[in-house]
Amino acid sequence: MDRQTPLNQPAPTDLPPSAETLLALMHAQAEVARLSEREQLFSSLLVSVNAVLWAFDWETQQMIYVSPAYEQIFGRSAGLLLADYNEWRDSIYPDDLDYAERSLTQVLDKGAIEDREYRIIRSDGQVRWLSDKCFISRQERGQRLIVVGIAEDITEKKQLEGELQRLATTDVLTQSSNRRHFFECAQHEFEQARLQGTPLAFLLLDIDDFKLVNDTYGHQEGDQVLQRIAESGRSALRRGDVFGRIGGEEFAAVLPGCSPDMAKQIAERLQREIQRLSFQCNNQAFGITVSQGLTNLRDDDPGLEVLYARADAAMYQAKRQGKNQIVLV
Ligand code: GH3
Ligand code: MG
Ligand code: MG
Repeated sequence: MDRQTPLNQPAPTDLPPSAETLLALMHAQAEVARLSEREQLFSSLLVSVNAVLWAFDWETQQMIYVSPAYEQIFGRSAGLLLADYNEWRDSIYPDDLDYAERSLTQVLDKGAIEDREYRIIRSDGQVRWLSDKCFISRQERGQRLIVVGIAEDITEKKQLEGELQRLATTDVLTQSSNRRHFFECAQHEFEQARLQGTPLAFLLLDIDDFKLVNDTYGHQEGDQVLQRIAESGRSALRRGDVFGRIGGEEFAAVLPGCSPDMAKQIAERLQREIQRLSFQCNNQAFGITVSQGLTNLRDDDPGLEVLYARADAAMYQAKRQGKNQIVLV
Protein backbone atom coordinates (compact mmCIF):
# COMPACT_ATOMS: atom_id res chain seq x y z
CA MET A 1 0.00 0.00 0.00
CA ASP A 2 1.52 3.32 -1.09
CA ARG A 3 -0.53 5.87 0.79
CA GLN A 4 0.68 9.06 2.46
CA THR A 5 -0.39 9.51 6.03
CA PRO A 6 -1.24 13.04 7.09
CA LEU A 7 0.81 14.06 10.10
CA ASN A 8 -2.17 14.95 12.19
CA GLN A 9 -3.64 11.49 11.92
CA PRO A 10 -2.27 8.41 13.58
CA ALA A 11 -0.91 5.78 11.24
CA PRO A 12 -3.51 3.11 10.47
CA THR A 13 -2.12 0.09 12.11
CA ASP A 14 -3.83 -2.87 13.62
CA LEU A 15 -2.25 -2.16 17.00
CA PRO A 16 -3.06 0.96 19.03
CA PRO A 17 -0.14 3.41 18.89
CA SER A 18 2.34 3.15 21.68
CA ALA A 19 2.97 6.12 24.01
CA GLU A 20 6.35 6.60 22.33
CA THR A 21 4.78 6.86 18.86
CA LEU A 22 2.19 9.33 20.13
CA LEU A 23 4.91 11.49 21.66
CA ALA A 24 6.91 11.44 18.41
CA LEU A 25 3.79 12.44 16.46
CA MET A 26 3.10 15.34 18.80
CA HIS A 27 6.67 16.53 18.41
CA ALA A 28 6.43 16.34 14.65
CA GLN A 29 3.18 18.32 14.68
CA ALA A 30 4.72 21.01 16.88
CA GLU A 31 7.74 21.23 14.55
CA VAL A 32 5.52 21.61 11.48
CA ALA A 33 3.54 24.37 13.22
CA ARG A 34 6.77 26.12 14.24
CA LEU A 35 8.22 25.90 10.74
CA SER A 36 5.07 27.12 9.07
CA GLU A 37 4.91 30.03 11.53
CA ARG A 38 8.52 30.91 10.68
CA GLU A 39 7.82 30.59 7.00
CA GLN A 40 4.83 32.88 7.30
CA LEU A 41 6.91 35.37 9.23
CA PHE A 42 9.68 35.15 6.64
CA SER A 43 7.20 35.56 3.76
CA SER A 44 5.53 38.58 5.31
CA LEU A 45 8.96 40.12 5.90
CA LEU A 46 9.89 39.55 2.27
CA VAL A 47 6.63 41.08 1.09
CA SER A 48 7.06 44.17 3.22
CA VAL A 49 10.62 45.07 2.12
CA ASN A 50 10.86 47.09 -1.04
CA ALA A 51 13.64 44.87 -2.36
CA VAL A 52 13.84 41.71 -4.43
CA LEU A 53 15.88 38.85 -3.01
CA TRP A 54 17.08 36.53 -5.71
CA ALA A 55 19.23 33.45 -6.26
CA PHE A 56 20.76 32.59 -9.61
CA ASP A 57 22.30 29.33 -10.76
CA TRP A 58 25.35 30.44 -12.70
CA GLU A 59 25.91 27.17 -14.56
CA THR A 60 22.41 26.78 -15.91
CA GLN A 61 21.88 30.57 -16.10
CA GLN A 62 18.56 30.16 -14.36
CA MET A 63 16.89 32.17 -11.67
CA ILE A 64 16.11 29.63 -8.96
CA TYR A 65 14.47 31.90 -6.41
CA VAL A 66 12.93 35.35 -6.41
CA SER A 67 11.09 36.96 -3.51
CA PRO A 68 7.50 38.26 -3.81
CA ALA A 69 8.61 41.91 -4.19
CA TYR A 70 9.76 41.05 -7.72
CA GLU A 71 6.20 41.17 -9.05
CA GLN A 72 5.56 44.44 -7.25
CA ILE A 73 8.78 46.21 -8.33
CA PHE A 74 9.12 44.83 -11.85
CA GLY A 75 5.39 44.52 -12.51
CA ARG A 76 6.08 41.12 -14.08
CA SER A 77 5.27 37.52 -13.25
CA ALA A 78 7.77 35.66 -11.05
CA GLY A 79 6.74 32.40 -12.74
CA LEU A 80 7.92 33.66 -16.11
CA LEU A 81 11.24 34.77 -14.64
CA LEU A 82 11.84 31.41 -13.00
CA ALA A 83 11.14 29.75 -16.34
CA ASP A 84 13.43 32.08 -18.30
CA TYR A 85 16.13 34.44 -16.98
CA ASN A 86 15.80 36.56 -20.12
CA GLU A 87 12.74 38.08 -18.44
CA TRP A 88 15.11 40.00 -16.13
CA ARG A 89 17.45 41.01 -18.96
CA ASP A 90 14.49 42.18 -21.05
CA SER A 91 13.33 44.50 -18.28
CA ILE A 92 16.65 46.34 -18.04
CA TYR A 93 16.73 49.82 -19.57
CA PRO A 94 18.56 49.34 -22.92
CA ASP A 95 21.31 51.88 -22.15
CA ASP A 96 22.09 50.10 -18.87
CA LEU A 97 22.00 46.50 -20.07
CA ASP A 98 25.66 46.26 -20.98
CA TYR A 99 26.72 47.69 -17.61
CA ALA A 100 24.31 45.50 -15.64
CA GLU A 101 25.59 42.34 -17.31
CA ARG A 102 29.27 43.20 -17.10
CA SER A 103 29.04 44.17 -13.45
CA LEU A 104 27.22 40.92 -12.66
CA THR A 105 30.01 38.92 -14.25
CA GLN A 106 32.55 40.69 -12.03
CA VAL A 107 31.04 38.94 -9.03
CA LEU A 108 32.92 35.80 -10.12
CA ASP A 109 36.27 37.53 -9.52
CA LYS A 110 35.39 39.73 -6.62
CA GLY A 111 32.95 37.56 -4.67
CA ALA A 112 30.67 40.51 -4.05
CA ILE A 113 29.50 43.57 -6.00
CA GLU A 114 27.79 46.16 -3.87
CA ASP A 115 27.56 49.28 -6.01
CA ARG A 116 25.55 48.25 -9.05
CA GLU A 117 22.85 50.71 -10.01
CA TYR A 118 20.77 50.47 -13.14
CA ARG A 119 17.32 51.23 -14.47
CA ILE A 120 14.53 48.87 -15.39
CA ILE A 121 11.38 49.43 -17.40
CA ARG A 122 8.33 47.96 -15.68
CA SER A 123 5.71 46.22 -17.77
CA ASP A 124 3.56 49.39 -17.43
CA GLY A 125 6.38 51.47 -19.00
CA GLN A 126 7.53 53.13 -15.77
CA VAL A 127 11.29 53.51 -15.40
CA ARG A 128 12.64 52.58 -11.94
CA TRP A 129 16.17 52.73 -10.48
CA LEU A 130 17.56 49.62 -8.79
CA SER A 131 20.51 49.13 -6.50
CA ASP A 132 21.35 45.47 -7.07
CA LYS A 133 23.94 44.02 -4.70
CA CYS A 134 25.09 40.48 -5.36
CA PHE A 135 27.31 37.89 -3.68
CA ILE A 136 28.60 34.41 -4.40
CA SER A 137 26.80 32.04 -2.09
CA ARG A 138 29.56 29.91 -0.50
CA GLN A 139 29.80 26.76 -2.48
CA GLU A 140 31.38 23.54 -1.36
CA ARG A 141 33.72 21.86 -3.77
CA GLY A 142 31.80 20.30 -6.62
CA GLN A 143 28.59 22.11 -5.79
CA ARG A 144 26.81 24.44 -8.16
CA LEU A 145 27.82 28.10 -8.26
CA ILE A 146 24.93 30.14 -6.91
CA VAL A 147 24.88 33.94 -6.96
CA VAL A 148 22.47 35.60 -4.55
CA GLY A 149 21.42 39.20 -4.59
CA ILE A 150 19.18 41.90 -3.27
CA ALA A 151 17.75 44.43 -5.71
CA GLU A 152 16.34 47.49 -3.98
CA ASP A 153 14.08 50.05 -5.64
CA ILE A 154 15.96 53.36 -5.15
CA THR A 155 13.91 55.50 -7.56
CA GLU A 156 12.71 57.91 -4.85
CA LYS A 157 16.22 58.17 -3.42
CA LYS A 158 17.58 58.99 -6.88
CA GLN A 159 14.92 61.65 -7.40
CA LEU A 160 15.77 63.17 -4.03
CA GLU A 161 19.47 63.15 -4.91
CA GLY A 162 18.64 64.92 -8.19
CA GLU A 163 16.59 67.52 -6.36
CA LEU A 164 19.36 68.08 -3.79
CA GLN A 165 21.88 68.42 -6.61
CA ARG A 166 19.61 70.96 -8.31
CA LEU A 167 19.21 72.94 -5.07
CA ALA A 168 22.95 72.90 -4.45
CA THR A 169 23.80 74.19 -7.92
CA THR A 170 20.96 76.60 -8.68
CA ASP A 171 20.36 80.17 -7.65
CA VAL A 172 16.87 80.18 -6.13
CA LEU A 173 15.79 83.61 -7.41
CA THR A 174 16.80 83.31 -11.06
CA GLN A 175 16.99 79.52 -11.49
CA SER A 176 20.40 79.97 -13.12
CA SER A 177 23.58 78.25 -11.97
CA ASN A 178 24.90 79.68 -8.73
CA ARG A 179 28.41 81.10 -8.42
CA ARG A 180 30.04 77.85 -7.26
CA HIS A 181 28.44 75.70 -9.93
CA PHE A 182 29.14 78.27 -12.65
CA PHE A 183 32.86 78.29 -11.83
CA GLU A 184 32.98 74.48 -11.64
CA CYS A 185 31.47 74.18 -15.12
CA ALA A 186 33.57 77.06 -16.43
CA GLN A 187 36.73 75.38 -15.13
CA HIS A 188 35.75 72.16 -16.89
CA GLU A 189 35.20 74.02 -20.17
CA PHE A 190 38.52 75.85 -19.75
CA GLU A 191 40.36 72.53 -19.37
CA GLN A 192 38.57 71.05 -22.39
CA ALA A 193 39.46 74.07 -24.53
CA ARG A 194 43.11 73.76 -23.45
CA LEU A 195 43.17 70.04 -24.23
CA GLN A 196 41.52 70.34 -27.60
CA GLY A 197 43.03 73.66 -28.61
CA THR A 198 39.60 75.17 -29.24
CA PRO A 199 38.54 78.79 -28.68
CA LEU A 200 36.61 79.93 -25.63
CA ALA A 201 35.12 83.27 -24.58
CA PHE A 202 34.40 84.67 -21.10
CA LEU A 203 31.64 87.23 -20.65
CA LEU A 204 30.81 89.27 -17.55
CA LEU A 205 27.62 91.32 -17.20
CA ASP A 206 26.66 93.82 -14.50
CA ILE A 207 23.35 95.70 -14.31
CA ASP A 208 23.75 99.46 -14.53
CA ASP A 209 22.51 101.57 -11.59
CA PHE A 210 20.71 98.65 -10.07
CA LYS A 211 20.78 100.23 -6.64
CA LEU A 212 18.67 103.04 -8.12
CA VAL A 213 16.14 100.47 -9.43
CA ASN A 214 15.79 99.04 -5.92
CA ASP A 215 15.58 102.50 -4.35
CA THR A 216 13.01 103.79 -6.85
CA TYR A 217 10.77 100.77 -7.43
CA GLY A 218 11.47 98.54 -4.44
CA HIS A 219 13.46 95.39 -3.83
CA GLN A 220 10.72 93.10 -5.20
CA GLU A 221 10.73 94.88 -8.53
CA GLY A 222 14.53 94.58 -8.46
CA ASP A 223 14.15 90.83 -8.02
CA GLN A 224 11.94 90.68 -11.12
CA VAL A 225 14.57 92.54 -13.10
CA LEU A 226 17.13 89.93 -12.05
CA GLN A 227 14.80 87.13 -13.16
CA ARG A 228 14.18 88.71 -16.57
CA ILE A 229 17.90 89.33 -17.12
CA ALA A 230 18.56 85.66 -16.37
CA GLU A 231 15.87 84.68 -18.90
CA SER A 232 17.48 86.96 -21.50
CA GLY A 233 20.84 85.38 -20.77
CA ARG A 234 19.48 81.89 -21.28
CA SER A 235 17.73 82.80 -24.51
CA ALA A 236 20.57 84.80 -26.08
CA LEU A 237 23.24 82.19 -25.37
CA ARG A 238 23.72 78.95 -27.27
CA ARG A 239 23.00 75.48 -25.97
CA GLY A 240 26.19 74.27 -24.28
CA ASP A 241 27.19 77.75 -23.12
CA VAL A 242 27.69 78.02 -19.37
CA PHE A 243 25.70 80.78 -17.69
CA GLY A 244 25.26 81.74 -14.05
CA ARG A 245 24.54 84.42 -11.49
CA ILE A 246 27.87 84.99 -9.80
CA GLY A 247 26.95 87.96 -7.60
CA GLY A 248 24.02 90.17 -6.55
CA GLU A 249 23.43 91.78 -9.96
CA GLU A 250 26.31 90.22 -11.81
CA PHE A 251 26.06 87.37 -14.34
CA ALA A 252 28.76 85.50 -16.25
CA ALA A 253 28.95 83.23 -19.27
CA VAL A 254 31.56 80.94 -20.75
CA LEU A 255 31.18 80.20 -24.46
CA PRO A 256 33.08 77.05 -25.43
CA GLY A 257 34.25 76.62 -29.00
CA CYS A 258 33.20 80.19 -29.77
CA SER A 259 35.36 82.34 -32.05
CA PRO A 260 35.99 85.95 -30.91
CA ASP A 261 33.72 87.21 -33.70
CA MET A 262 30.85 84.95 -32.75
CA ALA A 263 31.31 85.79 -29.04
CA LYS A 264 31.01 89.49 -29.86
CA GLN A 265 27.81 88.88 -31.80
CA ILE A 266 26.33 86.88 -28.91
CA ALA A 267 27.20 89.64 -26.41
CA GLU A 268 25.59 92.23 -28.72
CA ARG A 269 22.49 90.09 -29.09
CA LEU A 270 22.21 89.87 -25.30
CA GLN A 271 22.77 93.63 -24.95
CA ARG A 272 19.92 94.37 -27.40
CA GLU A 273 17.59 91.86 -25.78
CA ILE A 274 18.09 93.46 -22.37
CA GLN A 275 17.63 96.96 -23.80
CA ARG A 276 14.26 95.84 -25.18
CA LEU A 277 12.97 94.63 -21.79
CA SER A 278 10.24 96.81 -20.33
CA PHE A 279 9.08 96.85 -16.69
CA GLN A 280 5.94 98.29 -15.15
CA CYS A 281 5.76 99.59 -11.61
CA ASN A 282 3.02 101.87 -10.22
CA ASN A 283 1.92 102.76 -13.75
CA GLN A 284 5.44 103.75 -14.54
CA ALA A 285 7.36 101.99 -17.28
CA PHE A 286 11.10 101.67 -17.08
CA GLY A 287 13.91 99.83 -18.79
CA ILE A 288 17.39 98.83 -17.79
CA THR A 289 20.83 98.58 -19.31
CA VAL A 290 23.89 96.48 -18.58
CA SER A 291 27.64 96.77 -18.98
CA GLN A 292 29.56 93.81 -20.33
CA GLY A 293 33.21 92.81 -20.37
CA LEU A 294 34.21 90.24 -22.98
CA THR A 295 37.49 88.41 -23.48
CA ASN A 296 38.79 85.39 -25.36
CA LEU A 297 41.14 82.59 -24.35
CA ARG A 298 44.79 83.32 -25.22
CA ASP A 299 47.60 80.81 -25.66
CA ASP A 300 49.46 82.07 -22.61
CA ASP A 301 46.46 82.19 -20.23
CA PRO A 302 47.56 80.01 -17.29
CA GLY A 303 44.10 79.54 -15.79
CA LEU A 304 40.45 80.49 -15.80
CA GLU A 305 41.03 83.17 -13.14
CA VAL A 306 43.09 85.18 -15.63
CA LEU A 307 40.19 85.26 -18.10
CA TYR A 308 37.82 86.21 -15.31
CA ALA A 309 40.10 89.05 -14.18
CA ARG A 310 40.40 90.35 -17.76
CA ALA A 311 36.63 90.26 -18.32
CA ASP A 312 36.15 92.02 -14.97
CA ALA A 313 38.58 94.78 -15.90
CA ALA A 314 36.81 95.17 -19.26
CA MET A 315 33.43 95.39 -17.54
CA TYR A 316 34.68 98.15 -15.20
CA GLN A 317 36.08 100.00 -18.18
CA ALA A 318 32.58 99.85 -19.72
CA LYS A 319 31.20 101.40 -16.50
CA ARG A 320 33.83 104.17 -16.56
CA GLN A 321 33.13 104.90 -20.23
CA GLY A 322 29.46 105.63 -19.47
CA LYS A 323 27.81 102.16 -18.98
CA ASN A 324 25.33 100.46 -21.39
CA GLN A 325 28.10 99.05 -23.57
CA ILE A 326 30.36 96.10 -24.24
CA VAL A 327 34.12 96.37 -23.84
CA LEU A 328 36.18 93.75 -25.59
CA VAL A 329 39.75 92.97 -24.49
P1 GH3 B 1 26.75 100.21 -11.22
O1 GH3 B 1 26.04 100.74 -12.42
O2 GH3 B 1 28.04 100.88 -11.00
O3 GH3 B 1 26.89 98.73 -11.31
O4 GH3 B 1 25.84 100.57 -9.97
P2 GH3 B 1 24.86 99.59 -9.20
O5 GH3 B 1 23.89 100.43 -8.45
O6 GH3 B 1 24.29 98.58 -10.11
O7 GH3 B 1 25.85 98.81 -8.26
P3 GH3 B 1 25.98 98.72 -6.71
O8 GH3 B 1 27.06 97.70 -6.50
O9 GH3 B 1 26.14 100.07 -6.10
O10 GH3 B 1 24.60 98.10 -6.23
C1 GH3 B 1 24.22 96.82 -6.48
C2 GH3 B 1 22.87 96.64 -5.86
O11 GH3 B 1 22.35 95.33 -6.13
C3 GH3 B 1 22.89 96.77 -4.36
C4 GH3 B 1 22.09 95.61 -3.86
O12 GH3 B 1 21.11 95.98 -2.93
C5 GH3 B 1 21.44 95.06 -5.09
N1 GH3 B 1 21.19 93.63 -5.00
C6 GH3 B 1 22.09 92.64 -4.80
N2 GH3 B 1 21.45 91.44 -4.77
C7 GH3 B 1 20.14 91.70 -4.94
C8 GH3 B 1 18.97 90.86 -4.99
O13 GH3 B 1 19.02 89.64 -4.87
N3 GH3 B 1 17.78 91.47 -5.19
C9 GH3 B 1 17.67 92.82 -5.34
N4 GH3 B 1 16.46 93.35 -5.55
N5 GH3 B 1 18.76 93.61 -5.27
C10 GH3 B 1 19.96 93.08 -5.08
MG1 MG C 1 27.93 94.81 -9.31
MG1 MG D 1 25.64 97.17 -11.06
